[in-house]
Amino acid sequence: MIFKKRSIEIAGTKIKRGEKIQLRLQVSTSFVANPTFIPITVFHGIKSGPVVLVTAAIHGDELNGIEIVRRLIYSIDVSQLSGTLICVPVVNIYGFQNTTRYLPEGKDLNRHFPGDNTQWSQGKYAYIIYNELAAKSNYILDLHTASEGRSNLPHVRADMSNPEVARIAHAFGTTVILDNEGYNGTLRKTATDNGIPSIVFEAGETRKFEKKIASNGLISVLNVLKELEMIPGEKYIAPIQFVVKKPHWVRADRGGILSINTRPGRIVKKNVKIATNTNPFGLEIESIRSPYNGIILGIATSPTVTPGEGICSISKIDEPVKSLREKLKAHFGVKRVVF
Ligand SMILES: [Zn+2]
Repeated sequence: MIFKKRSIEIAGTKIKRGEKIQLRLQVSTSFVANPTFIPITVFHGIKSGPVVLVTAAIHGDELNGIEIVRRLIYSIDVSQLSGTLICVPVVNIYGFQNTTRYLPEGKDLNRHFPGDNTQWSQGKYAYIIYNELAAKSNYILDLHTASEGRSNLPHVRADMSNPEVARIAHAFGTTVILDNEGYNGTLRKTATDNGIPSIVFEAGETRKFEKKIASNGLISVLNVLKELEMIPGEKYIAPIQFVVKKPHWVRADRGGILSINTRPGRIVKKNVKIATNTNPFGLEIESIRSPYNGIILGIATSPTVTPGEGICSISKIDEPVKSLREKLKAHFGVKRVVF
């Protein structure tokens, strides 16, 4: 692919080669009729190259990505950059301000792309984000955490049937890549379907800055920029990467208080006990076991559970657990998968 843009225009501002610019993009209007803006930093490198968009907090309570984008902004020297980097630390400003996943009216912004300027408020918001930012990009890295009450192993979600998506998913560098298309209306699926290869990074939990995730997440974003030859340097990629399919949520049959024996990244054998459900007297009422050999991708963070509630998500692995553990141990010195 050849990229030759001399200038790029975002939020009505024309940005020349070699410029780093902080912008405010109007996404809506408040109750008192003032414009509502989101902050954007654009690095338009001297040399030609692709346009990469990095987004965080499309779900407003998912904060780890915000810290990754902030660290990214400090890490880039525009005079050394080939191509263009658009950094958007907070896409969903309403959710961020109100500490919630959603836009007003409880709408999930990440189910409404590419948006529709003539329709509902969520459609208008998505339309502005898509047309002002996504449609001007060649690649998108969208940063998320688990939803409220859960924690995720840092991993990439990508449609691995698309070669260019697979390329940036591997370059991102995590041990685990979850191969799926994504839901309709997500930024990732919509952009990928429209010829803009996109991946999601899922890591940790809501309402926190998790330092290890932020530092590793920054390394991963820089890995992609290195893969695309936008910045120089060696990539740091997990020595073992494996691609898994849709995880299965293991659920409690009964309400109770949980004692969970596992954590994200752990490899578990079929039938191994992953949680004990107890009553308030401490007596065991349910033993919850793994349905197959797999890797724990996500886990509930609350000790209480209601009937049918998810406890952890496990993706099946086909390789024998013993050989996988031995390989991982050889690389990491531990029996579980690490980031
Ligand atoms: Zn999310």
